[in-house]
Amino acid sequence: MSSRFYYDNITLDRAHHLRMDDNWLSSSLDGDAIRIIPVWRNQSLIITSGNANSRPNAAILSGNAADIVRRNTRTLVFLGIKDDIIYCAADLSHVEDPHSTILPKETSFEDLRRLATTLNPIKAGYLAYARALIYWHQGHQFCGTCGHPTKSSRAGHERVCLNSECDKSHFPRTDPAVIVLVTHPTEDKCLLGHNKKFQGLRFSTIAGFVEPGEMLEQAVVREVFEETNIQVVDVVYKASQPWPFPASIMLGFRAQAVTTEIICHDEELAEARWFSRAEVLEMATNRKILPPTNLSISRWLIDCWVSEN
Ligand SMILES: [Zn+2]
Repeated sequence: MSSRFYYDNITLDRAHHLRMDDNWLSSSLDGDAIRIIPVWRNQSLIITSGNANSRPNAAILSGNAADIVRRNTRTLVFLGIKDDIIYCAADLSHVEDPHSTILPKETSFEDLRRLATTLNPIKAGYLAYARALIYWHQGHQFCGTCGHPTKSSRAGHERVCLNSECDKSHFPRTDPAVIVLVTHPTEDKCLLGHNKKFQGLRFSTIAGFVEPGEMLEQAVVREVFEETNIQVVDVVYKASQPWPFPASIMLGFRAQAVTTEIICHDEELAEARWFSRAEVLEMATNRKILPPTNLSISRWLIDCWVSEN
């Protein structure tokens, strides 16, 4: 399977049947077949190699380096198996300065979102998966039902309330968000918006979270209208991209506009415009207006539209 976007090409076997056994992970940790992916305060470990010109690499630790992190982690999470190697995420967020005692030299914790497109895409997917699960553990140390502490179970894919009268199980969350390329009703143009949070004059497809009780198609129609005043029909699903910043999946759509007057009347977009194919292609060259980053689902939706006909 080729990688269209970052984080879409995780080839690990998640081995659900193994993680059901609470003792399996602890009995499988000794030996050379373990790889550890450290996470510290939502940052991922990167090998810097000390050379300013070298490309950063994802740090996936083995041998003695993996053992040291495993002994110091407060939460170890099984991610999956690939070629008989067991991959785990390890949370070091409780350690004030993990580099001084725990981690190999020439590594540093970095924001995965900032670095991802410079990393090997498969390894970037592993780091994203690790980051997402550790983020979930950090936010579920206490039971949302009764307030008592919880403990990790099923190799890190469940947290169980320690209050025996409650005994509630909590499972990792993924929040669905829709992202859509909207085409003009009569002209060869697409609708892109500039989010107030974007750095530079970057324009992207319209996106937003799905609300409870809402179909994905309804979320597309609502979000486009809320953000741009444009009404759309013919909502068609295209592809998805895991987006663990902090815990989403982006569900990509195409939709057809039936109105054209843009009014940005919510807090998110500073501006939205109709772009012709020529204007979209120009973004990548003149850099006055920036397109979405490479290997994002937003860029893929736009590139698919540009390449049609
Ligand atoms: Zn509880």
